[in-house]
Amino acid sequence: TMEYGPAPEAAGDALAWITDQGARFGHFVDGAFTAPGATFETTSPATGEVLAEITQGTAEDVARAVAAARAAQGKWEKLGGPGRARYLYAIARLLQKHSRLFAVLETLDNGKPIREARDIDVPLAQRHFYYHAGCAQLMDDHAPGRVAHGVCGQIVPWNFPLLMLAWKIAPALAMGNTVVLKPAEWTSLTALLFADICRQAGLPKGVVNIVTGDGETGAALVAADVDKIAFTGSTEVGRKIRAATAGQGKALTLELGGKSPYIVFEDADLDSAIEGLVDAIWFNGGQVCCAGSLLLVQEGIAERFHAKLRARMDKLRLGDPLDKSIDVGAIVHPEQCARIAALVEQADGTVYRAAGPVPEGCFYPPTLISDLSPASPLMQEEIFGPVLVSTTFRTPSEAVQLANNTRYGLAATIWSENINVALDIAPKLASGVVWVNGTNMFDAAAPFGGVRESGFGREGGAEGLMAYTRPAGKAKALKRIAPFTGDAAEPQ
Ligand code: NAD
Repeated sequence: TMEYGPAPEAAGDALAWITDQGARFGHFVDGAFTAPGATFETTSPATGEVLAEITQGTAEDVARAVAAARAAQGKWEKLGGPGRARYLYAIARLLQKHSRLFAVLETLDNGKPIREARDIDVPLAQRHFYYHAGCAQLMDDHAPGRVAHGVCGQIVPWNFPLLMLAWKIAPALAMGNTVVLKPAEWTSLTALLFADICRQAGLPKGVVNIVTGDGETGAALVAADVDKIAFTGSTEVGRKIRAATAGQGKALTLELGGKSPYIVFEDADLDSAIEGLVDAIWFNGGQVCCAGSLLLVQEGIAERFHAKLRARMDKLRLGDPLDKSIDVGAIVHPEQCARIAALVEQADGTVYRAAGPVPEGCFYPPTLISDLSPASPLMQEEIFGPVLVSTTFRTPSEAVQLANNTRYGLAATIWSENINVALDIAPKLASGVVWVNGTNMFDAAAPFGGVRESGFGREGGAEGLMAYTRPAGKAKALKRIAPFTGDAAEPQ
């Protein structure tokens, strides 16, 4: 039986907000919610309960939203950086004021542990707006000779619905763009609450537009009269978007999947490496683009490390994501849960499942797969669930070779007490980011993004801002904008 504390009352406010809105949502276009059209249901994966009905956006809905964004863009850009900063600060403050509501709504809709939504997703989203408000204020100093793209179409996945929205909307607005954003169909609610926040902040109408719907709505947005597409999601859809925008002159950034190596050397502080690994692969149930899903352990410690790991896995608590003591919540949707199960069934190695109880429904236990044959698809494919694949290496160069033996290149983690070894192999890894003796270190001031099939373009930091501008017609010599050198820019 699962008993990790009393049933949480916390859902009350979020459910009340949904009810107050009529539990049927239209889009947010030109500063107002539209009447709902044909709708689909969004459910809580932890309970299967229907939370609300969401409108399936049509090509006409997308066109109306793009027209509203187009009409608003010139005035928004002319407002200037300091003028736009005031709105971004207002949004950041409102996100802060309503942080509990956002966290609970996110957990209800996505199934992630409330501890993560409350301590990570929502604070990082706020930080993104504060940081970009500061950037907007200083923009004239930082990005001389650059102007906004214009109207940006933005498409986000379901794993970090609010945070991915913040990564998209904050820099776009800071640099003078207006946006039409499409949330993922399984997790639209926090984007709709965010729309309400924009209204409360008095954001000029048309600057932010939210159109809900599935991949067809996304495809309509890609085809629409926008100046830039920013996409986060699967490599498969990223490829389609690249093909669809080819030759159209639309700017494009793609943040795609990963199979990120987590390399543990013999001399590593093993207890810290285990805690890091828990964060790398079981944070958000492994539904993380940069999840450390490919464990590479040096041979001499492999047995000891795996024994420690299994013992730690057995202590992870799986269950009701609204319960504060839960480590791993629900998988976002039964379809995703079935996909994970099907991939694990293919495993030709040793499968270890954490010993703790698994609730009925949309839950998957923390899982470790070792002794896979090198040719196993599981060594390559992104599982996007709480499943870790493990193998061993003998030398640093073998570690590099195994780490680079995927089609992806998003993130990598190295654990070693020998900084020379770590710094020697870090640049040899095909990876957008390399963390040493730590993992999942994110900050609005640090650019994030991949190489190879993990996509291109960066979000966050100076590079992320540049991706929302283009050279002005009569551009002076292009100058790279000065990197932020505040508290968070310490080299890790
Ligand atoms: P997905 O590609 O299926 O969907 C992402 C979004 O694209 C959704 O909003 C979806 O409705 C939309 N979409 C689907 N088909 C489309 C089309 N033809 N044209 C336009 N839009 C379309 O991905 P997902 O399953 O929601 O998300 C998981 C994937 O996202 C994983 O592969 C993960 O690695 C990746 N991801 C990457 C990052 C990153 O920063 N690199 C971050 C989070 C997630």
